[in-house]
Amino acid sequence: MGVPGAGKGTQAVRLTEALGVPRVSTGDILREAVQNGSALGRKVRGHMEVGALVPDEAMGQLVAERLGRQDARDGFVLDGFPRTLDQVAILDRVLGSLGAKLSSVFLLTASERDIVTRLAGRRVCPGCGAVFHVNNRPPRSAGVCDDCGSALVQRQDDREEVILERLDVFRKRTLPIARAYAERGLLTEVDGAGEPAQVFVRLQASLGNA
Ligand code: AMP
Repeated sequence: MGVPGAGKGTQAVRLTEALGVPRVSTGDILREAVQNGSALGRKVRGHMEVGALVPDEAMGQLVAERLGRQDARDGFVLDGFPRTLDQVAILDRVLGSLGAKLSSVFLLTASERDIVTRLAGRRVCPGCGAVFHVNNRPPRSAGVCDDCGSALVQRQDDREEVILERLDVFRKRTLPIARAYAERGLLTEVDGAGEPAQVFVRLQASLGNA
């Protein structure tokens, strides 16, 4: 979990590589659905464009389907789910039916100044999902993905007015979840300031302690 721009996606990729389990990013799954114009994509597009959350029911179906796949049998890193208290209950049910349980929950923190700088400069690859930053992680050739050569784009919801809405949604709806997981003794806060590699060292240390 983390405020938008805290580096959730970047750290989740590193964590999945280190643990050898799949990353389940609900944001990526939804963006792909929108790009493909699938029924799910048409349903969620309007919510995503304005920085609002997609309804819990649709999220529950999506996560149940994804976590039930064979590759998630020995573990997974959830990135961006759950984000509401109802989604916590949904996840409990899905995990219960799979005979799985959460081992740790991490909350990445970041200052408001860092967040706006990171999000406004973020560029993503519509081809392979790689993430760059105009200053902090520029591609080798401006505007072009290092990995697959596609033209990089700015996410619709990384525009300033949408960023402010997403921060508001995070404070009102997602922070209470951090408290719920803290009460269960699962939550560790990780400082998201600095380079991704530095943050990952902190995350790994927390994982070792968790
Ligand atoms: P992210 O890439 O995690 O920042 O997610 C981008 C957008 O996808 C969010 O602003 C929401 O519109 C939608 N989204 C992703 N995960 C969820 C979730 N767990 N619940 C509701 N909406 C979500």
